[in-house]
Amino acid sequence: MTNSKENPIIVVGGGIGGLATALGLAQADKYVKVLEQAPEFGEVGAGIQLAANATNVLQKLGVMDQISKDAVFPKRLVLMDAFTGEELSALDIDEVYRERYGAPYVVLHRTDLQQALLDACVEHPNVELVTGQDVTTAEDHGNAVEVVTASGDTHSGSAMVGADGLWSKTRKLFVEDQPVCSEYVAYRGALPWDEVADANVGDPNDVYMFIGPNMHVVQYPVRRGELYNQVVVFKSNQYRKEIEHTDQWGTPEEMDEVFKGTCDRVKTAISYISRQKRWPMYDRDPIQNWTEGNITLTGDAAHPMLQYLAQGACQALEDAGFLADVVKKHGDNYNQAFLEFQEERQPRTAYVQTSARNWGEIIHATDPITQLLRDKILENRTDKDYKFVDQYHGYNKTLEEVK
Ligand SMILES: Cc1cc2nc3c(=O)[nH]c(=O)nc-3n(C[C@H](O)[C@H](O)[C@H](O)COP(=O)(O)OP(=O)(O)OC[C@H]3O[C@@H](n4cnc5c(N)ncnc54)[C@H](O)[C@@H]3O)c2cc1C
Repeated sequence: MTNSKENPIIVVGGGIGGLATALGLAQADKYVKVLEQAPEFGEVGAGIQLAANATNVLQKLGVMDQISKDAVFPKRLVLMDAFTGEELSALDIDEVYRERYGAPYVVLHRTDLQQALLDACVEHPNVELVTGQDVTTAEDHGNAVEVVTASGDTHSGSAMVGADGLWSKTRKLFVEDQPVCSEYVAYRGALPWDEVADANVGDPNDVYMFIGPNMHVVQYPVRRGELYNQVVVFKSNQYRKEIEHTDQWGTPEEMDEVFKGTCDRVKTAISYISRQKRWPMYDRDPIQNWTEGNITLTGDAAHPMLQYLAQGACQALEDAGFLADVVKKHGDNYNQAFLEFQEERQPRTAYVQTSARNWGEIIHATDPITQLLRDKILENRTDKDYKFVDQYHGYNKTLEEVK
């Protein structure tokens, strides 16, 4: 069915991935309707890191100027030992990085990213945004789709993209799998810089990751440097399958216990972290197929991953950029476009999903020999050695390059 205002491409979910997808499709001259379950579009009050593979897409979508107003452009990514407080290794993410990848590394508040994408969608005449739509299922009718919500409303469209995140309902159209619990929890939040400036925190130009057995802490500034973002992550010994969906594991008391004996800077981080809410960490095993007829998936709905490489949203943005290109190429043949999208994106994202798990094993290593080897390898690299990150941050595929 020809795409029109009455038969738009329906994007289920208005998170970072869904909004970027909607914007990209609108810029590819398609009408798009975003269905978001929440009463309004929003993000959690914490930071996010975006590498060049993501900012390249944001540049292409024309939102980078807006994002740059609030983002911070850090100079170094620094790996630290959580116990000794010593620097293990660093990566220059300043000018050399920018030149190498054609885009910057930025850290920013999630709401600033979400707002920039939302504003661009609101301004675009081809995008309709609808909140309060809890999509439960969808049906492909060959050349059209019908999307159904929990309240029984239906939305017709020419195609559908499921961007409804880790707990995706649209993914059930393809597979009956469940998110895999990592047994780790995260505590996170952004504090006013003035509150922490005199405390024992590092250089506000750097992004820090303190690593230790079964734990890590990430710190960086956001919102023009006015806020300081912290993420505290650890594996819970209290985790049991029966209590997975309760808050009886990974408690603040357990956090205090796990981080006993860490260096002063990590202890300071723990003393400042908000204890109100915790995020259990999940991913899923990669799947081979997320496309059927005129329906496809994107972002965490298709390939949720652990956050250890800071690549989940970056991959959702890569998806958005590539999907817009293939949809433009194939006109109203959405099935062809979605199959080509999957052919390119499935192996790439499956690799990043698996790599994130592996990197977690490395940074959280408990075995002293593994730690020793890891630290020696890290010690022997320079801050301009991009060998490891090229494969992630260096992805900037346009359709011309792929075909
Ligand atoms: C602690 C932590 C730190 C992270 N740090 C980074 C980082 O630094 N860099 C990075 O790149 N990634 C990071 N990530 C990963 C990143 O947050 C996700 O990969 C990214 O948010 C995925 O975007 P998405 O739009 O696909 O899904 P989501 O952000 O989950 O958005 C899904 C949207 O769909 C809506 N929705 C859900 N169900 C329905 C429904 N049934 N009907 C309609 N709408 C629905 C939701 O309300 C939401 O708005 C981190 C993750 C965590 C947990």
